Amino acid sequence: MDSEAVKKYTKCLNFAAIKHSTQRRKDKEKTPYINHPIGVANILANEGDVIDLNVLMAAILHDTVEDTDCSFEEIEEHFGKDIKSIVQEVTDDKNLPKMERKKLQIEHAKTASPNAKLVKLADKLYNLRDLQRAIPEGWTKERASEYFIWAKKVIDNCRGTNKKLEDKLDDIFRSQNIME
Ligand code: NDP
Ligand code: ZN
Repeated sequence: MDSEAVKKYTKCLNFAAIKHSTQRRKDKEKTPYINHPIGVANILANEGDVIDLNVLMAAILHDTVEDTDCSFEEIEEHFGKDIKSIVQEVTDDKNLPKMERKKLQIEHAKTASPNAKLVKLADKLYNLRDLQRAIPEGWTKERASEYFIWAKKVIDNCRGTNKKLEDKLDDIFRSQNIME
């Protein structure tokens, strides 16, 4: 990596850590939220062999606009248009009702760019592993299994993007008995 890339990647990690600093995952250990976006980038690089830094930085930033006070303008200002547009593609519109958002994620996955699909694959892989590890506090088993079914519908519209990640997702769907 050249020195500018090292600086930008490190700035990205720091930016996301600051944005998510007060947030926790929905597990009983209250894991710091930042473990998730860093873990998604790690899945891409070390399990999916994705080494495109724009994709890895978009993964690190993928929940900043959806879940913090961060704006797309801020992402563009610090990290440029390309990273901003990947983040934009994977960001749900929080003004819409939850069920509408879930439906739109399935729809939007179909026409998403290959880079956005990569982030979606790794994001779902991370979240499904989290759900397999432990059901979040307050969730019923039914809610968790509905999440697996919904996630598969999103993933089915992202196929043909990264075989390694898709195979790992399919292992999870198979273990949940939701492969048709
Ligand atoms: P949510 O969207 O509320 O929660 C799942 C999201 O939380 C993940 O996508 C992930 O998003 C984040 N997350 C944080 N911590 C964890 C963790 N430890 N494990 C997994 N994910 C984590 O869930 P849904 O609303 O989708 O619920 C699942 C299903 O249950 C739905 O299909 C719905 O029909 C049903 N249901 C929903 C209810 C509701 O109130 N929403 C009530 C009853 C049933 P990120 O990547 O952004 O961090
Ligand atoms: Zn996420």
